[in-house]
Amino acid sequence: MIYLDYQATTPLAPEVAKAMQPWIEERFANPHSPSRWGHEAAAAVEVARKHVEKAIGLKGGSVAFTGSATEAINWALKGTVEKAGKSRNRVITVATEHAAVLDTCEWLATQRVDVTLLPVGSDGRLDLSLLARELERNVLLVCVMQVNNEIGVTQPISEIAEMAHDAGALMFCDAVQAFGRVELCKGPDLVAVSAHKIHGPKGIGALWMRKGCEPAPLIHGGGQEQALRSGTLSPALCVGLGAAAKLADERATRDYDHVQKLWKAALQALGHGWTINGSTTHRYHGNLNLRREGLDGARLIADMRDVAFSLGSACASGSGRPSHVLRALGLDYKQARSSIRLGFGRYTTQQELVDACRRIAAHAIAQEKLDA
Ligand code: PLP
Repeated sequence: MIYLDYQATTPLAPEVAKAMQPWIEERFANPHSPSRWGHEAAAAVEVARKHVEKAIGLKGGSVAFTGSATEAINWALKGTVEKAGKSRNRVITVATEHAAVLDTCEWLATQRVDVTLLPVGSDGRLDLSLLARELERNVLLVCVMQVNNEIGVTQPISEIAEMAHDAGALMFCDAVQAFGRVELCKGPDLVAVSAHKIHGPKGIGALWMRKGCEPAPLIHGGGQEQALRSGTLSPALCVGLGAAAKLADERATRDYDHVQKLWKAALQALGHGWTINGSTTHRYHGNLNLRREGLDGARLIADMRDVAFSLGSACASGSGRPSHVLRALGLDYKQARSSIRLGFGRYTTQQELVDACRRIAAHAIAQEKLDA
């Protein structure tokens, strides 16, 4: 199996599995209990927190662990609205955000929050003059992701954060696809990350919060995480996220250079007849989302069972609905259906990527001949 679906999830790093192992088996203590074992577990959680904060690289805030980035996103948005009360009630976001943001905003709209969804250009980028216009009215929160999960296109987060702050608003950034892959942009007040996109375990994420910008709690209970996010922490998962973050931080240049090489090799192996979806300059190169006229992407995936790749986002695949991101770029139904996403990274070898791309190209040409 050649795995080319790095945006959906990434393989667990061996170093991470090793770091987690004792906390899964013999070191089972509750990190919130006062015994010596409990203290040891709590200490491991705090070391992990420091690794995550260092890898995030932003100053003046701290991290709380969550059960996923989806939870961190729900918490950031709903908790910020709740904390603000009635003073400001507008939230601005973008049409190409992940469902975790868009669906939370949709729910907020049912709670009398005034939600504005900004369009993107055909390159997938936000037009900042549109944002400037919207910022004139009583905005509480601006939510924009750094790297898009479907097309890899990046947004100018620092500029957006500055504009939001000038208008008295806060800025939330979904950095799930950026964290551990590229440097995170300075400026946001709240940042969501996930472990399983950076070779860590599934079932854990984190919310970085600038001091003073902590959202009201979403989950109530035992008062863990400074009474902001209740629930017993899993030392194994926290240690796993910490180890994955540390590794990503240490290997940042190596992983980045590897991805740059893979991107070039993939394009060369695919050959002519493909169009990259979204900006070719403002993007993360471990995400190659492209289309080919007349291609049936779903058929291609079914024909190539030993290569794992995707039609768009993992959530949208299989639903039969064309991706909301590709539609936001202005692609029609046929163009969206003819698009595939190849995601690669640290453990992808150039040889396997080139093999897979050559086979994808051959299958695509065979489809054309069959359909002619
Ligand atoms: N945001 C983006 C951009 C993502 O790609 C994902 C995962 O697909 C999420 C949020 C949700 O992350 P998690 O799986 O940790 O809930």
